[in-house]
Amino acid sequence: MFMRNPSLSSHPPASVQAGRAEPKRLISPDVNQGHPVLIVGAGVSGLAAAIALSDIGIESILLDRRSRDELMDGAGINLQPEAIEALNSLGVSTRMLMEVGATITKQSYYFPDGRHVCSLDKSGQDGSPGQIAIPRGELLRLLLDVAASKNNVKLLMRH
Ligand SMILES: Cc1cc2nc3c(=O)[nH]c(=O)nc-3n(C[C@H](O)[C@H](O)[C@H](O)COP(=O)(O)OP(=O)(O)OC[C@H]3O[C@@H](n4cnc5c(N)ncnc54)[C@H](O)[C@@H]3O)c2cc1C
Repeated sequence: MFMRNPSLSSHPPASVQAGRAEPKRLISPDVNQGHPVLIVGAGVSGLAAAIALSDIGIESILLDRRSRDELMDGAGINLQPEAIEALNSLGVSTRMLMEVGATITKQSYYFPDGRHVCSLDKSGQDGSPGQIAIPRGELLRLLLDVAASKNNVKLLMRH
């Protein structure tokens, strides 16, 4: 759904960091001929698809075999600048991500015996985060909240 635009820099512009970017129109609103789109799986992809479709006026039904509580399971996820930008465009702001996540400024790699391989500078530019590490459940909760606020997204999950 979110293809990288080669004109984008590796750091989101300030307007995107600050708020919500215009949804990218990758498909035509009449693609579903008036029928709701069925999306199987309310992971990051399914939730992002439902929100993006809603933003261009397309109704969807989002199914998951897991319950909302089960969706909150999982470890952390490291969001790259492009992922942060895509989330911003879906209504999940950088501020919301930073409230529940941690900004990564440096990544270091080591051999199994403890010898240092290298360290990479991951600090962002112009005060924007280069990367944000966030619990996976928190990311899904933020996306679920946006999806649930849309009146043309129907969420069907196990109870
Ligand atoms: C260990 C690990 C670490 C990772 N770390 C990172 C990271 O740091 N940064 C990063 O960007 N990416 C990371 N990834 C990749 C990232 O997690 C995945 O790309 C992402 O979760 C894929 O999202 P998805 O929505 O496509 O699939 P999933 O998150 O797998 O969601 C699929 C959903 O579909 C549901 N489902 C499946 N089959 C059915 C069915 N038949 N009926 C109903 N529902 C169904 C499942 O219950 C699930 O909720 C990591 C992956 C792993 C495994």
